[in-house]
Amino acid sequence: MPLTPTAKIWMDGELVDWDKATIHVLTHSLHYGTAVFEGIRAYPTAKGPAVFRLKEHIARLFRSAHILDLDIPYSEVEISRAVRDTVRASGLDGCYIRPLVYLGYGEMGLNPLLSKVAVSVAVWPWAAYLGEEGVANGIRLKVSSWARHDSRSMPTAAKATGMYINSSLAKVEAVRAGYDEALMLTTDGFISEGTGENLFLVRDGAIVATPNSAVGALEGITASAVRKIATDLGYPYREELTRRPDLYLADEAFLTGTAAEIVPVASVDDREVGSGKPGPVTQAIQQVFFETVRGERDEYSDWLDYVG
Ligand code: PMP
Repeated sequence: MPLTPTAKIWMDGELVDWDKATIHVLTHSLHYGTAVFEGIRAYPTAKGPAVFRLKEHIARLFRSAHILDLDIPYSEVEISRAVRDTVRASGLDGCYIRPLVYLGYGEMGLNPLLSKVAVSVAVWPWAAYLGEEGVANGIRLKVSSWARHDSRSMPTAAKATGMYINSSLAKVEAVRAGYDEALMLTTDGFISEGTGENLFLVRDGAIVATPNSAVGALEGITASAVRKIATDLGYPYREELTRRPDLYLADEAFLTGTAAEIVPVASVDDREVGSGKPGPVTQAIQQVFFETVRGERDEYSDWLDYVG
């Protein structure tokens, strides 16, 4: 789906028109992948648009920048305000939000310390990333031939643009082969994550989560919400290293991510997971999650930042 332009993009302190939000072709990060970013969602609620877990996303953006040695010339409060301002300017009830911290035009060469750090925040309408049909009925997943980055080669805790070559290769391979999404293993064969989602299994009524940092997966903010929701619902919850057959033998499996939200896995490598339909545990967690983001669950109201 092509991007739908919105009114304004925040660029280094100013809201500029969508069409004017351009940069030079010699922008450092375009050449070396040295940018960090976030993916955040705002949802429609009875009190207007609300940003889900804004503080946690901005904190992760700053952690990613720290890992890459990028010094963001704004505070977390200023970037959070930029997010709310950009959402408000769009006039949208719900949208996807993309803050980006990048090295701008000025210096070339691999030493990033010489380039100016720039920040932008764009928003656009984005339907469920893996489709409404996927959220409702489950997706077809394929284990990728591309292994997830090894943390000795790439700082897997950082959400950095260059890292996404790995995800992009895996995604294209899976889509070309007729699947919805790819799942990457570590170089040691442990389950890591999807191209933009964390993975959960359900076995004998218990949630088995992937120990994300140990397997080079991003520490998902949706995943941490799911951990809280699942334990509050009373499901036993544990983190465990898992391998490919564990997926085939799970009763249920689901992916979590800001863009994807919570998506049941119907099959993996053409083998049905459980009944091949969204299972009761996945559906219970989905229901609480979607009520939460729409501002309908008081117990999780501190996860929402109203745009006002
Ligand atoms: N893993 C990867 C590689 C991702 O890009 C994302 C999306 N940011 C996730 C996991 C899920 O993270 P979150 O729930 O914070 O969006």
